[in-house]
Amino acid sequence: MNPIKILPQELANQIAAGEVIERPASVVKELIENSIDAGATKIDIKISEAGRKLITVSDNGSGIKSNEIALAFKPHATSKLSSTFDLFRIQSLGFRGEALPSIASIAKVTVNSCTSEETGVSAILEDGEIAITPVATNVGTTIHVENLFYNTPARLKYLKLDYSENSVTFDAVSKIALAHPSIAFSLTFDDKLRFKTTGRGDLKETILNIYGLHYVKNILPISFSTNDFKLEGYLGNTELVRANRYGIIINLNGRNVYMGKIQAAIIEAYGGFIAPNRFPFVTLNLTVEPELVDVNVHPTKKEVRFSKEKELIELLLKNIPIALRKDEFVPTSMFQLREEQISQNEVQYTQSTFDLFTKVEENEENSYLPLNDSLVSEPLVYFKQEELNVFPVGSINRTYIICQTREGGFWLVDQHAAHERINYEKFQNSLNQKIKVRPLLVPLVLSFSKSEMLSFTDEVFIMLLEVGISASLFGENAIRVSEVPSWANEYDEKVYVENVIEQVLNNKKIDVHALRTNAIATFACKASIKAYHTLSSSESNYLLSELLKCDNPYSCPHGRPTIIKFTKYELEKMFKRSGA
Ligand code: ADP
Ligand code: MG
Repeated sequence: MNPIKILPQELANQIAAGEVIERPASVVKELIENSIDAGATKIDIKISEAGRKLITVSDNGSGIKSNEIALAFKPHATSKLSSTFDLFRIQSLGFRGEALPSIASIAKVTVNSCTSEETGVSAILEDGEIAITPVATNVGTTIHVENLFYNTPARLKYLKLDYSENSVTFDAVSKIALAHPSIAFSLTFDDKLRFKTTGRGDLKETILNIYGLHYVKNILPISFSTNDFKLEGYLGNTELVRANRYGIIINLNGRNVYMGKIQAAIIEAYGGFIAPNRFPFVTLNLTVEPELVDVNVHPTKKEVRFSKEKELIELLLKNIPIALRKDEFVPTSMFQLREEQISQNEVQYTQSTFDLFTKVEENEENSYLPLNDSLVSEPLVYFKQEELNVFPVGSINRTYIICQTREGGFWLVDQHAAHERINYEKFQNSLNQKIKVRPLLVPLVLSFSKSEMLSFTDEVFIMLLEVGISASLFGENAIRVSEVPSWANEYDEKVYVENVIEQVLNNKKIDVHALRTNAIATFACKASIKAYHTLSSSESNYLLSELLKCDNPYSCPHGRPTIIKFTKYELEKMFKRSGA
C-alpha cells in the first residue's frame, strides 16, 4: 500500500465535478440555480456547439462582491448555509458550495459580476489559477464556461451528438422555467433562440412560450392545497400523450425533482384515460414548508424526500381523474397554429390531420352517408339531446359519426370506441355490484398444459368466482366452467372466460380489481359494434346520448379518443373566413 495522502485540491474538485457535472446540461442547471438564488428576474442562456465550446448564463441578480469572487470558487464556499439548522430548512436551490469550484476544475471560466454597491469585477479561472480585474458592468452576473471537459477526455468522449445534448439542456432549462414563471428566461442554441418566457408569473403562458399553442390548447388546470402544501399545475389531455415519462414534470419549491412514487401515482391516475404504456404531459408546481423536505439526498439534489408524500399521492389519485373528466376535455381538431403564425392568420396542419384525410381517401368503402331523417338541424327531442347540444348529421366510412354542435362546429365520434366506452361503464357498474351469474347448460371444458394446470390453486378458483366464473378441476389436463356472468351472452362467454383465465395465468400475483377492470375492458371491446357497421339515425342518436351519459365519455377503455372536436372558430380558420 502507498502512504495515505490528502488529495491535491484540483483533483478533489475534479472528483466532485464527476458527481455534479455530468454533461453540459448540468453546468447550465447549476448556473441557473445560482442566478435564481441571487434573486434574478431575467436569465439568458446561450449555448454553442452543444456546450462543448461555450455556455453563457447571464442574470440580473444581486451580483458577487469583488472581494468574494475568489472565495466563491473555493470548495464548500457558500453564502446560503451557515448551520446544521439551515440544512433542515433549505430555501435556496444551492447550498453545497460545490458547483463553481467543480465547473472551474473542468473548464475555463470567466465571470463578470457587479453588485449595486460596486462598479464590477471580472475573474478568469483557468488550470487552477485565478486572475481578477475591475470591469464596468451592469448589476448581475455573467458566467462563461469554455471548453468543457477539456482536461477530462473520458467525460468528453461520453457526450452524445449535439442535438441530443441540446435536447437534454432544453429539457433541463424548460423544467426550471416552468418552476419559475415569474422569471424571464431565454435559451439560445448556436445563435438560434429556442424559447423565451415572459416572466409574468403565469404558468400557462410559460407553457405557451416553451411548447407552443398546441400544448396550451390541450391542457387543463389542476390545483389543490392542504395545511402542509399547495399544488398548482396543468394536465395534458390525450392529444399530448407521449411514449415516455419525461413529460411528467414535478417541481418542488422551485426545484425540478424526481419523485418516483408521485410519478407512478400520476400515471395510475391517467389509467382509464390513456392507453397503457403511454404517458401524459403533466407539469406540477408544489410549494411546501421547507422543514418537510430533505433535499440533501443526492449531490445533484434531483432526488428529494418529502414527508407528506402519501397525502399528496392520495390527492393526485382523486383529483386528476376529476379534472380529466371535465366537459371541455374533448380532444380538439388536429390543426394547430404556431405562435408566430397567429398574427398572420396562417393555418398549419399537423401530420395527424393528413393521416385522417388520407385514411378517408384510401378506403374503398369511403362514403359519406347522410342519415335519412337527421339532416334536419334540430336535435331529436326524445333523446333529450337539447341538453347535449350535439346531434348526428351523418357518417364517414361507416366508422365515424359526424355530429353538429349548436355552437356551429362539429364532432367526429368513433362509433366503435364510443360503444366500447358505454359497454365498459355498463359492465363496470354491474361488476361493482354483486355479480349476477347464470349456469351454463353445457359446461365449458378448457384444456391446459401440465405446467399451466399447476397454477390452478384454490385461491385462483376463488378469484375466478369474484369475476363471475365458477370453475373446478376436470381431470388432469382441464378445468370445467359451470357458471358465467349473466351479461355474457352465448357468443361471448367463451371469449370472456378464456381471457380472464389467461390473465390469471400470466400474472403471478393477481389484483382482483385490476382483473375485473381488464376483463371488462376486453369484454366491452368484444361486445361492441365494430367499425364499418352502418348505424341508423336513431342508433347514432342513441349511441351519442349514451356516450355522453358516461363518467368519462372522451376516451375508450384502452385510452383512444372517442370524440374529436372541431370548433366553428377552427372551421372558419381553415377556410380562411374573415369571421375567424
Ligand atoms: P452554492 O450555490 O451551493 O452556494 P456555488 O458553488 O454554486 O455554491 O456558488 C458559490 C457561491 O457563489 C454562492 O453561494 C453565491 O454566493 C455565489 N454565486 C454564484 N453564482 C452567483 C450568481 N449568479 N449571482 C450571485 N452570486 C453567485
Ligand atoms: Mg450553486
